[in-house]
Amino acid sequence: MSAKLLMGKPIADKINEQIKKDLAELKEKHGIVPSLASVLVGDDPASKSYSGRQKKNAGAIGIEYELHEISGGTSEGKLLDFIMELNQDRSVNGIIVQMPLPKGIDEHKVQSTIVMEKDVEGITPTNMGLIVYDRPRLCPCTALSAVKIIESVGADIYGKNLTIVGRSAIVGKPVALLMLQRKYSSTVTICHTGTAKVGTLPEHVGNADILVVAAGSPELVKGEWIKEGSIVIDVGFNVVNGKTVGDVEFEVAKEKAGYISPVPGGVGPLTVAILLQNTVEATKWQLENP
Ligand code: NAP
Repeated sequence: MSAKLLMGKPIADKINEQIKKDLAELKEKHGIVPSLASVLVGDDPASKSYSGRQKKNAGAIGIEYELHEISGGTSEGKLLDFIMELNQDRSVNGIIVQMPLPKGIDEHKVQSTIVMEKDVEGITPTNMGLIVYDRPRLCPCTALSAVKIIESVGADIYGKNLTIVGRSAIVGKPVALLMLQRKYSSTVTICHTGTAKVGTLPEHVGNADILVVAAGSPELVKGEWIKEGSIVIDVGFNVVNGKTVGDVEFEVAKEKAGYISPVPGGVGPLTVAILLQNTVEATKWQLENP
């Protein structure tokens, strides 16, 4: 039987409806229109197109979006100074630094400089740490998107075996931390190149009631490895011969899984909605500590 497709757009639409309500309330009670500052260093085409999409969606929903384009030749010190200016600027509610940064600039240092209350990507050590303490505030957008899609299934997901392929700081690890929260209580396995090297990737994938794949390797996870009836979330985004494919062998996987998020159309459409939701949450956080 073919799996039910988990599409991102209907979930994004619901999130956007809630954002609109929150924006109306912020305006009415506090006279605030949240503002997102986006920092683009250099001219990476993918980052340009991604920030263009953010700007369009922010404008459509009623969030101010200012793109700060900085020359690729800038120094790390100058960039850090600029982030600190944005931290201090009371008219800025959220800060996003588009990745990748030019060679020679320490991405972690730049991201860690953002104050936690404006960290709309949820990538500062403090916001990541708050998830560890089961007190999440601003969470990494893509990881939270994966969790929202898992939740959308509506089935009992409590205490299930969750396998994640990929251990990045923005996807794999935060998905693990989010799904370890007591409300989900997943039993988590995280796989990476070490797992592949020792040959146990198929076994861990086969054990998963819920599988999240974020490896950046086209069709790495073979359909035949997948557990019958499982929930499969494919975060991967790869272009092969001009065609966008995920990290899961979709055509075979969809015959075994119970639910599967396609690429494109699954996780992707949700991430900007979560970014804008985080901007609203960041604004509320700042109002708690005027
Ligand atoms: P990343 O930082 O490159 O991390 C990839 C992870 O996958 C690493 O932990 C790596 O293991 C593991 N991995 C790579 N090849 C593997 C293999 N053959 N076997 C087992 N593990 C393997 O990537 P990322 O930033 O997390 O992104 C992952 C994917 O998600 C990419 O395709 C990216 O484009 C996509 N993505 C999509 C969105 C969206 O909005 N849809 C957003 C962000 C990312 P090691 O740690 O051992 O190297």
